[in-house]
Parts: sequence; C-alpha cells; structure tokens
Amino acid sequence: MKLIQPDLTVDCLNDLDLSYWYERGIRGIFIDLDNTISPWRQNSVTGEARELIDKARQAGIMIILFTNAGEIRAREVAWSLGIGYYASAKKPFAAMYRKAMKELELTGSEVLAIGDQVFTDVLGGNLAGCTTVLTSPLAQEEYAGTKFLRFLERLAGRKAVFHSRD
Ligand SMILES: [Mg+2]
Repeated sequence: MKLIQPDLTVDCLNDLDLSYWYERGIRGIFIDLDNTISPWRQNSVTGEARELIDKARQAGIMIILFTNAGEIRAREVAWSLGIGYYASAKKPFAAMYRKAMKELELTGSEVLAIGDQVFTDVLGGNLAGCTTVLTSPLAQEEYAGTKFLRFLERLAGRKAVFHSRD
C-alpha cells in the first residue's frame, strides 16, 4: 500500500517549509486545484495558496497548477495567480506528470506533488516518482465520486507519515 502513502501530511499549506524542500533538491511543485488551493468549484484561491506561490518564487521553486479540472477553469485560476498549469491531468495516471516533467525539464526527484486526495494526488505523484504531500481538504462539499474515494481513504487508513528518503 506504499503507493497511497504520502511522504508528508500537512494540515495547511503554511506548514510547508520550502527552503527545506529546496535544500532537498525540490525545484518544482505540482499543486492540485479543488480543495487544495481553492474551495470546491469556486474560482477563489485561499490566501495561503497565494503565500505559498510567493514563497516558492522566493525559494527558486517553480510552481505549477496540476489538476484534473478542465481547461477553462484551470486556465482562469492559473492566470489569476500568474502560474503555469496542466488541466485534465487524469490523475492518478502518470502520463501527464511525465509530460509535464519533460516539458519543464524536471525529474521526479525534483518535484513535490501536493493535493488533498490520496487516490488521485498521492497515488499519481507516487507513481510518477515525485515526493507527495497530502493536505487537509478545504471544504466538505465534493463530487459524489470524490466522496466515494474518501470512503476508500478511510478504509485504507489515512496515516500521517513523514519518512525520510535518505
Ligand atoms: Mg483536490
């Protein structure tokens, strides 16, 4: 079950220490949209997410919106934040991660994949060889499909895991 274990679990994006991750070789962040930086189905982005983007810039880490949401919504949010994006990413399949990493000239070991769902964000990031961070979802309201995945997450036992890759 290791593929569904995040390398790190955080309650909020503020808990991420980007200078620490930079020192560990991280040069890119693939960040989820719904319930990670924006409440479900809204185009508003949390102040925390904006802070994270500023901190990433300062730390020299590229930050990219990486979402299963469609092109129009992803573009709107990404442009409002001044960051790049990959829409319809089909997480947890690794194909889009690989395409993105190739285009951005990043390797899996240089990418932090952040999101609120085990079976899309964590599984996908792990399959692509990224370091994975699971965040607490911003809102309770979600797609029926997502609710089912949450049920599976509870069955699988969401554990706070922070193992070093040394
Ligand atoms: Mg999400």
